[in-house]
Amino acid sequence: MCAAAIPLIRIAPHVFQCPVPTPTLPPAYSTNTYLVAKDGEGVVVDMGTDDPDAIQALVDTIRAAGVRRVTALIATHHHRDHTSGLPALHRLFRVPVYIHPLDRARLTWPETGAAALADAPPALSCAGIALHLRHCPGHTHGHLHVEIPGEDVILVGDHLAGQGSVWIGPPDGHMASYFDALDAIAASGCRLAGPGHGPVLEDAAAAARQLKERRLGREAEMLDLLAERPRTLGEIVDAVYGDTVPPGARLAARRTVQAHLQRLLSSGRVTRQFDADRGFIYRLPHPVSIPDRAPTAY
Ligand SMILES: [Zn+2]
Repeated sequence: MCAAAIPLIRIAPHVFQCPVPTPTLPPAYSTNTYLVAKDGEGVVVDMGTDDPDAIQALVDTIRAAGVRRVTALIATHHHRDHTSGLPALHRLFRVPVYIHPLDRARLTWPETGAAALADAPPALSCAGIALHLRHCPGHTHGHLHVEIPGEDVILVGDHLAGQGSVWIGPPDGHMASYFDALDAIAASGCRLAGPGHGPVLEDAAAAARQLKERRLGREAEMLDLLAERPRTLGEIVDAVYGDTVPPGARLAARRTVQAHLQRLLSSGRVTRQFDADRGFIYRLPHPVSIPDRAPTAY
């Protein structure tokens, strides 16, 4: 059976978004592959399924964009819904798959696929179009942004979402780094952001600032909850999300709360104690006692 054609959506003069159906986190059901194409040359960013029909459909789409020679493959991060189609594309195009070394270490590809992997260079070119590969950890430790300033586009992997929400959770995710990654998107100067899932975001800086505000709001909410009384992780998740999260995304929500708690723990705004029955119990630090009069000088 032939797979459905994969759309070729032009988001900038030489940058295309190709939503590919993938097994990913609801409510998203596709992962965006991006294609930079000029003068018959192409660079492909992310491919999240190894389904042979989808691979063929993507190759047809790449050809439809006028690409005769793919010169590089890039993985924004190691998650399967962004990388599992890259070994097949490597076999077809015989070019390296660039990925950050920290995420390369997390991939469990067979030997033949692993041989295709190479450390991401700081920059590469597609027929004269400069692509800057920036290491911006957050969603994963080796997450990359691909900045294409000549096209006014930044490809942000899973650091912004056009559909559903971004999740940042241990062991891969690190909230304090993610805040820095959002600042980097806002500072990139690129107008458009190409997210890993969902449609393009027309104002990259505004989207990054909004998301940071939302995350800071979540932290404030968690601090308020802990000001009421100490709570376990599960109790915080229930209080913050209630039943607003679809069942398939519940673990992601739990990990996101965990990542916030990590950030609050490392900055000393929250402490925790281990209870044999309930596990870790999170609380606000005890207020520092201040003597009501200056100590006597001797
Ligand atoms: Zn991801």
